This record gives sequence, structure tokens and C-alpha cells, in this order.
Amino acid sequence: MPNRISRRKFLGAASTVAVSSLSSKTSAKSALATAREQPPESSPADRIVDMHVHFDEASPSFVSDLLKLCGSLNLTACVLTPFSSRKIVAETARQHPSQIVPFGYVDLDAHDIVQQVEEFHALGYRGLGELEFVKKPFNDPSYFPVYELANRYAWIVLFHTGIVLRKKFDEPEDVASGRMRPIHLEEIARRFPKITVLGAHCGNPEYEWAAEIARWNPNVFFDLSGSSLTKMRERLADFRKIFWWSGSDWKTNTPDNDPSAYTKIVFGSDVQLSEIESVVHQYEAMFDACDLSPHTRKMIMGGTLAKMLKLQG
Ligand SMILES: [Zn+2]
Repeated sequence: MPNRISRRKFLGAASTVAVSSLSSKTSAKSALATAREQPPESSPADRIVDMHVHFDEASPSFVSDLLKLCGSLNLTACVLTPFSSRKIVAETARQHPSQIVPFGYVDLDAHDIVQQVEEFHALGYRGLGELEFVKKPFNDPSYFPVYELANRYAWIVLFHTGIVLRKKFDEPEDVASGRMRPIHLEEIARRFPKITVLGAHCGNPEYEWAAEIARWNPNVFFDLSGSSLTKMRERLADFRKIFWWSGSDWKTNTPDNDPSAYTKIVFGSDVQLSEIESVVHQYEAMFDACDLSPHTRKMIMGGTLAKMLKLQG
């Protein structure tokens, strides 16, 4: 989509957290410090996998900046790529498979959507996303041909969920958050069981619906990108009420058989490259507030996605 920068400002996460420079050597306090001391290849267990990195068509140096960041943070980026940039990202992913994972950013209402999806697949793309700004609810049958393809490819599909930015304030827009409610993902996950359904933003503010759908559906996960971790920074322990079923012997499969309810969360940043590290720290603050185990933290920060994507060390 155009103008990612205004989107970031709208979401507000970046404006209220410390922004760290790519060249800064002073801000690392956590696991990132450990990761940096070693070459990324030597520590795959601590790798961060970011599900939510939008390709920035406005930045000519985006690819080289991203590769640099992947090296310094031990990061693998799922790059949400517009159709017009599909070849450069496919080529970069071929050259750097442990750092760049290509995802196709498509408009579900485009007249040639099926052909676009097939071409993304032929180029080696691993999924779709972020699907957003839809004209109909996500579970509308007119979108099923796309989901059928994604199901056949056993892809991950990242859906925007919850409140969505407003791009134009003085012109009519055909945009509505109600078409992107997390409850719609339930039907997609059940009708198309080979799709890994990933909801961005945990349904903000419908966190409870998001979590409950994830609880019952082993193929549903959410990221916590967007404004939620900023909005809830003084009450991060509230996530305990939302992801409440840890250790209650729930019968659905979980990644690595980890019994924690928080395994339904994966890391996603949805910010400019220079702000990704600050989102890592926001996730860590939530982990501390909710007393997550070291294993669950690792699954959220990269373990779950690394397994799904079969990333090599
Ligand atoms: Zn979104």
C-alpha cells in the first residue's frame, strides 16, 4: 500500500516508544545483546522472526538497510511485498533465505487476484499478507478462490484485524474495520485447515475474540503489532486475562507442545526498520509482566515461525 509512513504515525506505536538508530551500539540490554555478539548463523535458537515487515517502496535502500538490520539483530523478516516489487524481493530471498522470507501483499478485491497469487507462488513466495482494506468481510465467499489456493499451497496468510487507519480525511473512503474483525478468521481457519491464519494486531481492540478463536483453532495465531503494547504499557498484565488457559490441559495442538496460551502469539513489528528493536523491547516488557517462561518467549520471538517456515540455521 502507498505511504507506509503515515500509517506508522497513525498507529502510534513508534511515536511513544524510544526509537533506536540502526547504528546505535548503546541501546541493547536484553537477549539482543547476546545475539549481536555472535554471528547470526551460529545462534538460530535465538533468532527473531518478524512476521510483519512491510516492503517500503518509497525507500530505494530498503533491501540493503533490511539485510544490515537482519545481521545486527539476528532477525529473519517476513517481507510483505507489493506485486510491483515481487521480483526484487524474490531474488533477495533466494540469496538470503535465512533473513528474508517473501510474502505477497495483494488486494483481495483486485480483478486479477488469482493470477497474482499464482505468480507469487511460482516465484517462491511463502504466503500472503497483509490482507487489508477489503471491500467485503474477510469471510465473504467471493474471496474463497484465493483462500483455496493458499490452502493448496499450505501457506501462511496474514490478515489485518481490528481498527484500521484512515488515509483520507476530506474524501469518502470505502474502508471499514468491521470487515476485518478477528471473528471472521474463525471461518477461514475451519474451511481451509491447511492455511496458517495469522491475524495482525490481535484484533485491537477485540483481543478476547482474537484469543478465543486462537484457543480453539490450532492454525490461528496473532501478532501484537500496532498500538496495543503502547496503549497497554501500564497494564500489560491484563494480557493474562485474555490468554488465560495456560496449563489447563487444552486439547488443541500447540507449537512444540508448549502448554502456554501465549504460544498463540508471534512476533510482528509493523514499523519502520529503525523502530523494530523498540518493538522487541515492548514484547519483552509484556513477557515480564505476564511471567512467561524462557521457552515460550523463544517460541513467540521466532521459534514458532521458524518451524512453520522450515527456516534453516
Ligand atoms: Zn494491519
